[in-house]
Formats: sequence, structure tokens, C-alpha cells
Amino acid sequence: MLIRNAEIYQAGLNDLRIDRGIISDIGRLSCRPGETVVEALGGALLPGLNDHHIHFLSFAASLASVDCSPAAVANSEGLATRLRQQLPSNAWLRGFGYHESIAGDIDCHWLDCHCPNRPARIQHRSGRLWIFNSAGLAILQQAIHLQKSPPQLPAESLKSGRFYDSDQALTALLGRHLPPVKQASEKLASCGITGFSDMTPSNDRDTFALFQCLKLENSILQNIQLARNSTFTSEETATTISSGPVKIHLHENRLPALQELVERIQASHTAGVAVAIHCVTEIELLFSLAALEEAGTIAGDRIEHAAVTPEHALDRMQALGVTVVTQPHFILEKGDSYLRDVESVDHESLYRCHTFLNWNIPLAGSSDAPFGSADPWTAMRAAVSRRTASGTLLGHNEALNPEQALALFLGSLEAPGQARKIQPGAAADLCLLKHPWAVARTRLTSDDVQFVLSKGQPIYRK
Ligand SMILES: [Zn+2]
Repeated sequence: MLIRNAEIYQAGLNDLRIDRGIISDIGRLSCRPGETVVEALGGALLPGLNDHHIHFLSFAASLASVDCSPAAVANSEGLATRLRQQLPSNAWLRGFGYHESIAGDIDCHWLDCHCPNRPARIQHRSGRLWIFNSAGLAILQQAIHLQKSPPQLPAESLKSGRFYDSDQALTALLGRHLPPVKQASEKLASCGITGFSDMTPSNDRDTFALFQCLKLENSILQNIQLARNSTFTSEETATTISSGPVKIHLHENRLPALQELVERIQASHTAGVAVAIHCVTEIELLFSLAALEEAGTIAGDRIEHAAVTPEHALDRMQALGVTVVTQPHFILEKGDSYLRDVESVDHESLYRCHTFLNWNIPLAGSSDAPFGSADPWTAMRAAVSRRTASGTLLGHNEALNPEQALALFLGSLEAPGQARKIQPGAAADLCLLKHPWAVARTRLTSDDVQFVLSKGQPIYRK
């Protein structure tokens, strides 16, 4: 394939040839007999974007679910109306994105009032809590009855319908039904995404086998890296999907002993596998840094989110050489509730971007979809504007310029903090925009994505 007259990102107007999935040549090139020619008309040609932290199956499930987030419903009445609009059915109604600012700590009784006609389960936007209605609880009870040694669920939860951190048990009881995976992958492709890292902490051998299947049957178009729940190796993944770091999920209110975390990191490093530690509070971050200082770091160790980073943690993060994987669009999507709920002295420490670059701390971007927008251009715009949904500036010192914002998504899946370049020999993972970069940088919108290639194969065409 020959792409003609593309503005190759940061390298000027040129033609580019792709041969067997690899960029073979860049220059003024003439078309070969029978060669497919794509006219870029001066549009910017970027390396394909990588989403460095997504929960792909949950994102796919969200496409077939009811949006219960503050962005979609304003209050209790709004949520009730939205649920009543869903038709009665025997099938599960699945909601996502709920936050207590809408209707407080709702439980099965609240859901029974507003969604009595079918089994329903609504997920909190943190991803940690599911709320079931009575019809849903009845199915769950039945599943517990039918299993020889069912996983334990708290009796209180089986009454209230509120299940914290119970995903593994719920999946074991209710099974995993396959969400619209192809639709999810196509949606990502339409934003220019050619690769993603799935950072779900429960990813095990079965998850690897499932993604392997989905990739082979072409239901997933992107390059895939999967984080793991331990250092297991999975031979069947060798060719189609890559094994990522071990994901460590910390919760401030029940942290392990420091030594336990140190040993977990060391065990992972001994197996040659980096770690990715979930840190959304200051305490989680400081605890992780202390453990990493004790255990030592290897290339690829990551801090996920770094939602709150105090000034005094920066030199320690730099010394450790960890990469930060952030979500700038949370400033847009959750910023107004941060302004309300987070003490004002901490506002400058929220989802920092520019400060990390100043400190030479490798920085990468990601969606955390379905807990944030899956569109990387939304994240880029938020990284540049630092405005909340209501338009308030939040941490304006952390704003990036459009090139820095784009670079958040240009790293490879293995080294997310280092932007890739379009050059001969590189994989032909490419994203062609409608406009030259001088125009596209003022818009930063997925509307501009025209044509997307993964390993030289078209995966999206506008
Ligand atoms: Zn996540």
C-alpha cells in the first residue's frame, strides 16, 4: 500500500509505503503496478494511538448497558425515569457509572421501586460496587443453591443487594456472558486506537485464552497487552497478545503489610515481570513508593492513575524511574465533584501532567474505560484545557500543549512513556487525520480520524 501526500507527524509532507505490515519506505515514491493507493491530501499521519489502561470487556459490556453516571442522569428522579424507560424483559438490565451524588447509597429496595420488572444490576463508577434488585438477588441465590461449593458472599450484601469487591464471586456464580466485543473494538478503531493494555487486576490464564480467541477470530482489531494477576506465563499468548505487568490493586482502607507488598513486587521482578500499582489516593501512592524503594524497580514498573501526587513524592518517583499512566479526562468528567469533595490544598496535586514531564517522569495517557471516556481525544482536550464539565479551571499549571497531550498516546504498549515515531522498519500501525497537524492540534477531535491501519491492515475508514 502507498499512502501519498501525508504530513508525516513531525517529519513533513511525504509518501509512505507499507509492505507486509511494516513501513518499508518514506520519500517521494511512485506507485507500483497493482498497488493500493491512499491519497492523504496533506492530512497528518500519526503513529496509531495506544490506550495504556482500559478494561476492555467491561467497556464492551457498557455499550450494551444503561448509562447511570452523573453525566447522563442528574438526580434520583432522572435515574428512576431512565430505568423505567427500559422495557420489561427476562434479560439482565446492566447499569454502569453510578455515583452516590445522584441518589445516595441506593440498595435493592430503591431499585425494586424503579426497576421491578427484570433482574437488574448497577455498577458504581469506581468499579468496586454492584447494586442488585430483588429479581437479580433471586437469580444469585439460585446460583448459590446450584453450586456444590459456591463462593462466599456477605449475608448483609445478600440482603441489601450491595456487593463490594465481589466481581470474582459474582462471575463464578452468574457466569461471564460475552459483551459486544467487536463493536467495542470498532469504536476504539474509529478514534485511531491501534493498541491497548487491558489493566484488569483479575486477568488470569482464562482471560488470556479468551482474548487469544477474540484476536484470532478478528473480533478485536487492536494489538493487545494484558496485565496479569500474577507472574504466570501463558505459551499460547506468545504470538498474538503480549503479557503485561502484574497489576497490584491497593485499597487505602485495607492495605497489606508493607513487607507483603515488597515481597510481591520482588517475586514479580525475580520472574522478570514489571508491576503496575493502582494509586488513587495520596496514602496509596506513598505506600507504593515505600514498597518500591525497598524492593527496587525494573524497567516497565508503573503507577496507575497517580490521582493525587504531593510535591514531596516527585523526586522519589523520578529516582525510582516509574512510569505514570494517567487519565486527564477525569478532570473534565469528575472535576466538579473533586472541587466539592477534595480539600482545596490538594487541588494542585490532582491528575498532574506537566509537573511529571518537568521532572522527567515518563508519562502516558489512557481512558480507564468504561470508568472514563474511551475516546483518547477527549483526554487530550482535557489535558490541554484542564477544565471541568462546568468550565472551572482545575490545576492549570498541569496543562499540556497539544503535542504533549498527543504524546500520551504514542508510546508503545511495552514502554508507554516513550513516543513512537513513523519510520521505516516500524509496524504500520497508523492513524490518518483529515487535516494537517497545525489545524488538528486546535481541534483534538476523533471526528478528524479518517483512516486507521493496524499492522498494515485497514481497521477503520471514515
Ligand atoms: Zn482501571
